[in-house]
Amino acid sequence: MTITHNLGFPRIGARRELKFALERHWEGNAPPAELQAQAARLRARHWAQQSTLDFVPVGDFSLYDHVLDMSFLLGNVPQRAHGHGGEALEAYFRVARGRASRADCGCTHAGEMTKWFDTNYHYIVPEFNAATRFALDTTHLRTQLQEALDAGVRAKPVILGPLTYLWLGKSTDGSDRLALLPALLPVYAELLDWLAQQGIEWVQVDEPALVTDLDACWRQAYADAYASLAGHGPKLLLATYFGRLEDKLPLACGLPVGGLHLDAINARDEVEPAMALLGPDKILSLGVVDGRNIWKTDLHATLAWLEPVQRQLQERLWIAPSCSLLHVPVDLELETGMDPEVRSWLAFAVQKLDELRLLQAALDHGRVGVQEALIANAAAVDRRRASTRVHNPQVAQAVAAITPALGQRISAHAQRATEQAAVLALPLYPTTTIGSFPQTPHIRQARRRHKLGELDDDAYRAAMQAEIAHCVDVQEALGLDVLVHGEAERNDMVEYFGEQLEGYAFSTNGWVQSYGSRCVKPPILYGDVHRPRPITVEWTRHAQSLTKKPMKGMLTGPVTMLNWSFVRDDQPRAATCRQLALAIRAEVQDLERAGVRIIQIDEAALREGLPLRRKEWDDYLGWAVEAFRIAANGVRDATQIHTHMCYSEFNDIMEAIAAMDADVITIETSRSNMALLDAFDGFRYPNGIGPGVYDIHSPNIPSREQIVDLMRKAAARIPAAQLWVNPDCGLKTRSWDEVLPALENMVAAARTLRATA
Ligand code: GLN
Ligand code: ZN
Repeated sequence: MTITHNLGFPRIGARRELKFALERHWEGNAPPAELQAQAARLRARHWAQQSTLDFVPVGDFSLYDHVLDMSFLLGNVPQRAHGHGGEALEAYFRVARGRASRADCGCTHAGEMTKWFDTNYHYIVPEFNAATRFALDTTHLRTQLQEALDAGVRAKPVILGPLTYLWLGKSTDGSDRLALLPALLPVYAELLDWLAQQGIEWVQVDEPALVTDLDACWRQAYADAYASLAGHGPKLLLATYFGRLEDKLPLACGLPVGGLHLDAINARDEVEPAMALLGPDKILSLGVVDGRNIWKTDLHATLAWLEPVQRQLQERLWIAPSCSLLHVPVDLELETGMDPEVRSWLAFAVQKLDELRLLQAALDHGRVGVQEALIANAAAVDRRRASTRVHNPQVAQAVAAITPALGQRISAHAQRATEQAAVLALPLYPTTTIGSFPQTPHIRQARRRHKLGELDDDAYRAAMQAEIAHCVDVQEALGLDVLVHGEAERNDMVEYFGEQLEGYAFSTNGWVQSYGSRCVKPPILYGDVHRPRPITVEWTRHAQSLTKKPMKGMLTGPVTMLNWSFVRDDQPRAATCRQLALAIRAEVQDLERAGVRIIQIDEAALREGLPLRRKEWDDYLGWAVEAFRIAANGVRDATQIHTHMCYSEFNDIMEAIAAMDADVITIETSRSNMALLDAFDGFRYPNGIGPGVYDIHSPNIPSREQIVDLMRKAAARIPAAQLWVNPDCGLKTRSWDEVLPALENMVAAARTLRATA
């Protein structure tokens, strides 16, 4: 009999119940008990939704982040979170979110947050130093386990494995994380023994670090660690996901554990070798349903390769989604407003578990028993494959006609810079912003009312035009050199463009946790992308008509559109990205025709699309940069192209950044104190750079002196003639009373810099 299980369930709730409960608690409107009660209700509901499975994950739920939970479980809590008194929950959120600085202490900075492998989920980075010691604290896991047992589910606790836990963390004193392994392992052994005492049969030990590049020390550590844990506790299911094990496949198959989970979506070709390498007493769990995307599984195709595997492995075969379902929305049933055709192609978390059940039934009792469901699945898969909504011959033609010349500016940057200087007549240290201005409740309300039909198109347009006019007035009064329209009309930088392109669909409840209470609702890129009409031209033209200063056109780049959407699985990402590039290119050219002299194309998500394995970077960067160039470079020399990226690691991708050949790049630097400009300096980056001088993630207002100081640091590395003065990112999350003084100081700082240049 085939066993079904799940690696993790979305915890935020189908209607984001956890988000709202957390926020109520943080605002002081709900005591800890109320938050905990809501969390318990969600867990109970999620277990009920998984009740058809043979094993259900427990401990995958988290109030904020499962890596942070692991740090608490292992007693690795930063010193600064202790000793403030109060509830245990308070220490937890103190590490998760920090505490705003107050003169009278109580101030704690948050743990660093970073991306969970190549997903859009962010975890709190465990902190280590040479003196770090661990001590088991099962408080939270105990509660969840008790609830699960009370609910009668067959619980399979989920924990992060010791090596991945160390691998995800950072040493704060330069010491070697691996040196902590001897101190860590006894706590894991104790944890496993405790779980065995609770009557647990299987524990899922997540070790996704195994799909990354690991050197010999780490590999040896895997062998040592699992040898030392052998004999402790329940049977261990070593879970790997997000990629292939490659040279570590023999290692993973040979570890003394009860079984191995392989991501059979990304590592299908490793299933056979794994079967050969695994000892006869081990189980093999296969991730046969994509846990990272929202498409229906092609059940026939899956059964075609899975049936022979099942015949060989028999009761040693387990099946599951490829990874935790944390990365997909909860339930398609809630999407009543979605285009029914597109909807019929999709499966969210709950539906993916239904697919698993069908696969199990077909494997164990033959396809005939579930024939009807299989036929319906095949029909949906076929309809999608043949749909004219998916395939647009015009787009195919345009893509086929792409030549390298399309990505080429007419002249090199030096020549362009001269022409642009003549047209734009900007001072030294020109000032600008990244695009958005505060999204006030007033703006959001107008958008909501427009969506509900309470505000007709004309009234909405007039309201947004008034917002734009206000934004232009403010920038004029501040004395900024290059203005923006403020993005009042945009809900989100990807969704806004997606909504106006063909090939995109949107959900109403398709939320996916990004970090803590923050969720994103990725658009669904289902078909060939086509721009039926200009998107931003009217807004930008209106904004430009209000000022003599140059108005930046503001677009989202193809790579970011791709990386922040659920994308097609029926063609390579590169192919989808090229289609997006052509759509944005058309918009760029229309803006130029409308007289816009500066166009910014945001590529906020370019870096996060980097593959987990270094050897795949060149390929990704190759097509990503090419897509940007196709989008950006169809303009005259005198038109200035900007790009913006909001992160701070450039060292390892400098060549690609330079190859994008934007006339100006604005980046996030204020928190790194300009240190990251070293990458640009070392590379002798020749084009314009705007290193952010205003940390827009913080309510703090930078002073003129601080900005002057930061820019002088920048000028010590980059010739002043290349430098721009701007914030780190868009201002949409800030309020006007923060933004106004900050920008006032920024403009004053630029004046000081010019006067003393
Ligand atoms: N132009 C966008 C804005 O200002 C850029 C946002 C981003 O980089 N994340 O909001
Ligand atoms: Zn940004």
